[in-house]
Amino acid sequence: KFITFEGIDGAGKSTHLSWFRAQLEAKLKPTQAAVITTREPGGTALGEALRELLLHQPMQLETEALLMFAARYEHLATVIEPALERGDWVLSDRFTDASFAYQGGGRGLALPRLNALETWVQGEFQPDLTVLFDLSPELANQRRGLARAPDKFERESEVFFTRVRAEYLRRAAEMPERFVLIDAAQSIAEIQQKLDEVIVFL
Ligand code: C5P
Repeated sequence: KFITFEGIDGAGKSTHLSWFRAQLEAKLKPTQAAVITTREPGGTALGEALRELLLHQPMQLETEALLMFAARYEHLATVIEPALERGDWVLSDRFTDASFAYQGGGRGLALPRLNALETWVQGEFQPDLTVLFDLSPELANQRRGLARAPDKFERESEVFFTRVRAEYLRRAAEMPERFVLIDAAQSIAEIQQKLDEVIVFL
């Protein structure tokens, strides 16, 4: 199965993803299925090179969207699809919902363009499950440590992240069958309990 993790910067998805992975691996042990963790933008050598450009190089919004989907095509064709065909599980830190949320909601790229790119790159393919960590931009801002220099996206304003969050929630409402919404304002213990309930059903 293919499971994606989404949320605004600072919602805690990377922390929860590594915990989710450990729990899922324990559950899958008898089946011997492997669990692969990957991320977007990135996930392949080309994707990681594009990530560096995307995070640090100023560019047109349209170029940014095209490069995100170019990286995604490579990621799908060379990592995700082969893994799923082998029967492995793939956990991805962000996927196409992030393009809708950031390039669409956040930066204002028209949704029909994103829909067209989505169809172009993945046809009808969608994650089996998407865990959306929902958090207000105010709280996310407080939580995001100042441990490292912020990238181009993390320097955006709370107004920007309010739009990103709204688009995530719109996608979740549009495709409720694959979304699990988690209130990321809860404690880590509460969130882990919710994730445990999700894992039981997988
Ligand atoms: O999830 P992660 O923090 O590693 O993502 C790197 C940066 O790229 C984030 O600041 C995220 O907001 C941004 N991003 C984006 N559009 C995407 C995917 C990620 O703006 N489609």
